[in-house]
Amino acid sequence: ARLARHRERLEREVADRTADYARAARDADDANRAKSDFLATMSHEIRTPMNGILVMAEVLAAEELPGRARRQAEVIARSGASLLAIINDILDVSKIEAGRLEVEILDVDPVAAIDTVLRLFAERAAEKGLDVAGRVLLPPDRLVAADPTRLGQVLGNLVNNALKFTAAGGVVVTAEPDGDDRVRFAVTDTGIGIPADKLAGVFEAFTQADQSTTRRFGGTGLGLSIARRLVEAMGGALAVASEVGRGSTFHFSLPAVVAEGRPATPDAAGA
Ligand code: ADP
Repeated sequence: ARLARHRERLEREVADRTADYARAARDADDANRAKSDFLATMSHEIRTPMNGILVMAEVLAAEELPGRARRQAEVIARSGASLLAIINDILDVSKIEAGRLEVEILDVDPVAAIDTVLRLFAERAAEKGLDVAGRVLLPPDRLVAADPTRLGQVLGNLVNNALKFTAAGGVVVTAEPDGDDRVRFAVTDTGIGIPADKLAGVFEAFTQADQSTTRRFGGTGLGLSIARRLVEAMGGALAVASEVGRGSTFHFSLPAVVAEGRPATPDAAGA
């Protein structure tokens, strides 16, 4: 009888404990959802006035102002743009966490995608004395199935990091065949590299490989976690190979599409 009572008590305890866990998990889910909603709302509310500041600062900077005033307007415009980029990252993270990230997959020309990114970063690269180049080793009819805006965002993020963590040499953006039905994109730099034990962590949100570089290089540690999720949403996987002191290569592959009405020129492969 004592044994039966004992068992009964144990079973009750297990049931209570299980209910406690379930309640805690539910509370955590609720809190998480509230946090994501809050982030999404805040980011959205901040974006609108921020856009106003940015546009007006740009208008001001374009006007015929005395030199000093124009430089001041340019600083406002540049700072506004950085702030907006951070806010957009936070908005993306909240969408990812809430499972509300959507991509629109279209046929994208990899040459155009790479050219756009190169143009965007040409000035920054030149300022740092770095080379930034594209290398497309695909037949001309080869397109990729991707969300054009998000593909640009991923490549932009990788090139931005590559330039940030490189002091000499440069950055190459490559597109090449990955088997018959995929296209592999790679961003290679000759920068500081990432220690082997930190490689996996760079894709975690808010993680920076070297805390001491945070203040030196700035950044939120969100870029790569967003990039990884965007690549996944487009049917790929973002990975990295790196050697400290020699540089890093971030790469991913996406499904290839053969353009209709643009017949393949077999000898163009590798051109
Ligand atoms: P952020 O650049 O804002 O810190 P990211 O998510 O883009 O955030 O990158 C996370 C971390 O990964 C960086 O802080 C840096 O330590 C490391 N990292 C990313 N790209 C490179 C690179 N090309 N070379 C060296 N380290 C890098």
